[in-house]
Amino acid sequence: MKKVILVIIDGLGDLPTPKTPLQAAKIPNINRLAKDGITGILHPLDRFVVPGSDTSHLAILGYDPSHFYTGRGPLEALGLGIQLNPGDVAFRANFATLENGKITDRRAGRVDSATAASLVKYLPKKIDDVEIIFKSSVEHRGALVLRGQGLSSSISETDPHISGEIHQCVPLDNSPEAVKTAAIVNKFTELSVKALSTANENKNRQKKANALLLRGAGEFVPAASFYERFELLGACIAGGALYKGVASFMGMDILMVSGGTGDKNTDLVAKAKATVRAVQGYDFVLLHIKMCDSFGHDGDFEGKKAALEKIDKIIPILEETGASIIVTGDHSTPVSLKAHSGHGVQILVYGGERYDDVKKFDEISCAQGGLGHISGKDIIPLVLNISGKAKKQGS
Ligand SMILES: [Zn+2]
Repeated sequence: MKKVILVIIDGLGDLPTPKTPLQAAKIPNINRLAKDGITGILHPLDRFVVPGSDTSHLAILGYDPSHFYTGRGPLEALGLGIQLNPGDVAFRANFATLENGKITDRRAGRVDSATAASLVKYLPKKIDDVEIIFKSSVEHRGALVLRGQGLSSSISETDPHISGEIHQCVPLDNSPEAVKTAAIVNKFTELSVKALSTANENKNRQKKANALLLRGAGEFVPAASFYERFELLGACIAGGALYKGVASFMGMDILMVSGGTGDKNTDLVAKAKATVRAVQGYDFVLLHIKMCDSFGHDGDFEGKKAALEKIDKIIPILEETGASIIVTGDHSTPVSLKAHSGHGVQILVYGGERYDDVKKFDEISCAQGGLGHISGKDIIPLVLNISGKAKKQGS
């Protein structure tokens, strides 16, 4: 049985200005895979639809987001290692600075991770009959979970997104569940501001981390596992909580790599070596690399180009496994737009598939590829075909 490594380079696709970062980058190894393999353009959701990283990963991994996506909150919480129960409502959370009733810094001066973790003890653990679980992650970020009877994610967020007042949480429908949940959220905001404002950790901080902003509410609805659905034993190597959360939602094993931080300084070689080890025990290994998306959001062409050249250097390590290698992205994040876009993203499939005449891995070359235009939902059938696990439809 052929093993498959799926390398997702977050925000890979770009636009020519006049070259794309991929066209400008020296990527001899990735180009060699493209030359020996087959290429095309991937539309993670529908064509020209702008994907989020969350919905795109669900789609690519065979979990149609129109059915399985309930919001970003549960995926972030799972990614931070919080065990969720059915009916839990989870949020993404930011520590922020509140001064005279106004948010003056949405990230509390990017409070350091250790201080944020130390602040968690001041937060309420229970309001009425609802249990409250909070976990901080990197810097100002974290996830909040409400656990109890009769909760709903049909509520507004409290994050003003720009500076201003913390928004009141309001129910988005007339259900008693939404009314109850909104009331709990508002009580939580009030109690947490009170407790954090007097916390020792905040005494000498110029930008106090004295408020929590909530967004991305979602109810946790468990799903059948990746193995149950596709009979593929899957593992995920990723730095960011969201990607670990997506894999955890599917019951994949999350392999931790020291130095695999999910930021621009991530240790790619360590992640590649972990992928090589994982291939021995798993049928399918997802290797997620975030840095290109971050450079895209920053509008940093040279940064994105250099990141691609760094990624190119780990390809020979992955090739040692003899596994089939798929390289693609979850969406385009063009540096000229500093945002996700609806442009399809290039894909190559190396090993175990047909080949085409395309010799380079970039946005323009791959549009000539033998895979043509494919959709996120085509990826798992593609993987099953390569691995010899595809089931015949009919007789
Ligand atoms: Zn993304």
